[in-house]
Amino acid sequence: MKVLVTGCTGYVGSHLCKKLKEHGHEVHGFDVNFHGEHNDVSFIDKFWIQDLNDRYLHGWGDAVVHLAGRSVVPQSLKEPSNYYRVNTMGTKNAVEKLRTDNFIFASTSSAFEMRSPYARSKVGAEDIIKEKADGYTIFRFFNVSGTDGIHRQLGTPSHLIRMAAMAAAGNIPDIKVFGNDYDTRDGTCIRDYIHVCDISDAIIRAVEKGPANTDYECLGSNTGYSVFDVLKTMENVSNTNIKKILAPRREGDAHSCIVENLSEFCDLKYTLEDMCYDQYKMQLNLN
Ligand code: UDP
Repeated sequence: MKVLVTGCTGYVGSHLCKKLKEHGHEVHGFDVNFHGEHNDVSFIDKFWIQDLNDRYLHGWGDAVVHLAGRSVVPQSLKEPSNYYRVNTMGTKNAVEKLRTDNFIFASTSSAFEMRSPYARSKVGAEDIIKEKADGYTIFRFFNVSGTDGIHRQLGTPSHLIRMAAMAAAGNIPDIKVFGNDYDTRDGTCIRDYIHVCDISDAIIRAVEKGPANTDYECLGSNTGYSVFDVLKTMENVSNTNIKKILAPRREGDAHSCIVENLSEFCDLKYTLEDMCYDQYKMQLNLN
């Protein structure tokens, strides 16, 4: 099949493209590389640089996997219009200009709470896809982590497992725990983590099966881990002690976010230990 991937040099995009090629698909993709850095996708069949909002955007695929977007909650509180421009208007442009019978979209678990412009920008995009796409598969990703050992998360670090890996590898001195007074079992926020390779496999199942045309498909693990659980796991797999500093709650954070209805596209191979270990090894290699 011919698959067109937006945001193909990003974290999920680069992992997905590699697996799509392993599955024998023809892969085309573009990116604007707004992080100022990118993952190597020179193995794909066609790559070009393009802004999602470009009025001359065009292309087609048996499936279009739309991953390009912004995804950092605190940043979205500071610059909401950027999030609506890229995530909502960019998706409108993509769904209008890229032809396909299966428009596959990376949405987010934070859409359930809509506590940030990031979450709201993705829900707006979901609505536009449902109105305009011929066929679609909307994935709500829970907290994506891990690496294939080659490709990695880009941009300024902010996500918990990446920060924990940096602390374990000695690349930062400590880690702030944003709030320990939530109504959860240890007072810290609970999240549902899923490995980027499991996410990629689920997307490939959607590419090969055709559009789901459901409201959304949840990609997570159905297991909740607190911030302290994650830090403990990172300490175990890295055999280190991470210095933790208690800090105030982070604006926009939901106290708990766990998959209720796991998508049938999910067939998990990886654990939280795998995600922590992969990211720790990646940080050691960056030293
Ligand atoms: N978190 C933390 N310290 C950090 C980064 C994150 O305590 O340095 C917490 C954050 O407040 C949230 C959880 O870890 O409760 C997951 O945050 P992350 O940014 O990884 O993902 P999000 O769920 O916000 O998309």
